[in-house]
Amino acid sequence: MPDSSRPIQLLSDAVINKIAAGEVVERPASVCKELLENAIDAGATHVDLDVVDGGRKRISVADDGSGMTRDDALLAIERHATSKIRDVDDIENILTLGFRGEALAAISSVSRFTLLTRRAGDDTGTEITVHGGKLIDVRDAGCPDGTTMTVRNLFYNVPARRKFLRTVQTELQHIRQMFLMYALAHPGIGLRLVSDEREIYQLNEGATFDERLAELFGRSLPDQMSTVDVDGKQIRVRGRVSRPTLHRADRSEQYIFINGRPASAPVIGYALNQAYSGLLPRGRHPVVFLFLELEAGGVDVNVHPTKREVRFRRSTDVRDAVIEAIRASFAPASSHLVSGDTKSAPDVPDPKSPRPFVRIPDLPSLPAFDYPRKKTAPPTAEVSVGEGPSKQTAEAPAESVTPDDTPSTPDGGTEPAPWNWCRILGVIGGAYVVLETDEGMILMNPRAAHQRVLYESLLAERDGAGALSQGLLQPETLDLPPVKADLLRRMLKPLQTMGFGISDFGGDTFMIDALPVGFGKGGAAAVVRDMLTDIEERGSGKGGRVQREDLARAAAGGAVGAGENLKAEELERLVKDLAACRMPYTSPAGKPTLIFTGMRELDRKFGKV
Ligand code: ADP
Ligand code: MG
Repeated sequence: MPDSSRPIQLLSDAVINKIAAGEVVERPASVCKELLENAIDAGATHVDLDVVDGGRKRISVADDGSGMTRDDALLAIERHATSKIRDVDDIENILTLGFRGEALAAISSVSRFTLLTRRAGDDTGTEITVHGGKLIDVRDAGCPDGTTMTVRNLFYNVPARRKFLRTVQTELQHIRQMFLMYALAHPGIGLRLVSDEREIYQLNEGATFDERLAELFGRSLPDQMSTVDVDGKQIRVRGRVSRPTLHRADRSEQYIFINGRPASAPVIGYALNQAYSGLLPRGRHPVVFLFLELEAGGVDVNVHPTKREVRFRRSTDVRDAVIEAIRASFAPASSHLVSGDTKSAPDVPDPKSPRPFVRIPDLPSLPAFDYPRKKTAPPTAEVSVGEGPSKQTAEAPAESVTPDDTPSTPDGGTEPAPWNWCRILGVIGGAYVVLETDEGMILMNPRAAHQRVLYESLLAERDGAGALSQGLLQPETLDLPPVKADLLRRMLKPLQTMGFGISDFGGDTFMIDALPVGFGKGGAAAVVRDMLTDIEERGSGKGGRVQREDLARAAAGGAVGAGENLKAEELERLVKDLAACRMPYTSPAGKPTLIFTGMRELDRKFGKV
């Protein structure tokens, strides 16, 4: 309730700065971002970023850029003080990373801040100290050319904000992600990241983009990507985009840069969807490093204080340019060496042509097979997976059990087997398996079914004498972004007991040399990546600990191609394994595996009743 006895007043600068800090400075990583941007704008060739305690205790950024005079340095910490734009028209034409002139004012109002700077050629440098927005000290100081800014005790005077800071690990991960974006955007600049006196990255100056990409993500990634480079009239699109065989479950590896600035715009996401439409499995996303360059007037970066989201003047042109550039990169290099030979078609399918009809097995004459449902419990059902009442139902005499009186619990209990006997009739639409059973007809989604089977077998290993795993013909290496690498490191043990042969190579690189049985022999890296994404997205159980169930569910969900293109024997095996599951009716993610239509319902539909 506003207090009507209080008069309206203009807020003081100190209060305004603190409010602005709320927009620009969300966490230590945002401080790092602003300071790094300033260093780059100042023409630095080397920037050192040094953080202590995930940046909560101290962040310092040292550059060898232009430096500032004493007067400029004093101005720099004022709100709306910037050397980068002069008047309104300049906002339409921004080529620097900063321009709003509020970062230093905001940061220094919510921390203990020092600025040490010297312009090349000046006799002496300047040191300015500001605590919580109050100028404490200005003095001459000896220092090298360039600027060093130090931010201590971020949010020390904003307890509400301080409370929202996460663990050192989490804050550091955000800093690393931010660092990666700028390291990719500016391969020419030498960059170093040090955390608690440990060097995390040391990137030499003068690198090409390809060199930096390989240095950060490993040498194998570029091999799986095509090069994009189309210089249109309005816009140039360059970079690397994944070939359709490389895809991820989320967009976390889509790095977009607009005029050198890490940025995003909804229209680019849309363009990516279009460019890859029909090329990737549903729900999958490409890995991209895309650089868009257009005249500064064609893009509005002044949409949000953090400048992360931009708006394009002609967004349809941008969209079309991105789609065309990516599509062009997939075309085979030899396509212009015309020949009438249609066999040398590109290995990328034409997205406009309909999905080829995949004939999964013809199975007209498969014999029906029996499931004496409760007489002899199927092997995996005997493995006690939880505290559920699996034992007693599994041992119940067959004669006394009908589907209606078998106790079933929503989770953790044993569901009745889905059929006493069944016969596989065939596959429709290349997607669903049709089964005849004693009581009617069943449609089975083989992918969901396969995930259920995998899930239960992964969990069944928990107290077994070691997991069943199969070695890969070719071990795969896996380079992960920092957040995911940390996640994987924490899960290595349980994954190993589930049959994943994964070892930590250091530096966010892992090697996979075995997968649990049932995962197929290829795409191990993709399986693990998807698993991590799943866990990240759904979060983990109570107390932040990843439960075995979560792991198994994520792993089963990531088994690419599972349940697809099965041969007759494999399909039969799958049907049997599913029948033996404790919870055969849904995938671990809760999707149906089976849709049952009983004889009575069929009769009713045909008007026989
Ligand atoms: P902006 O970057 O939007 O201009 P900032 O508050 O981040 O606003 O910085 C204010 C001004 O301080 C900049 O315009 C620039 O002139 C000066 N400045 C900031 N950081 C540096 C640096 N590392 N080296 C040289 N000058 C800097
Ligand atoms: Mg700035």
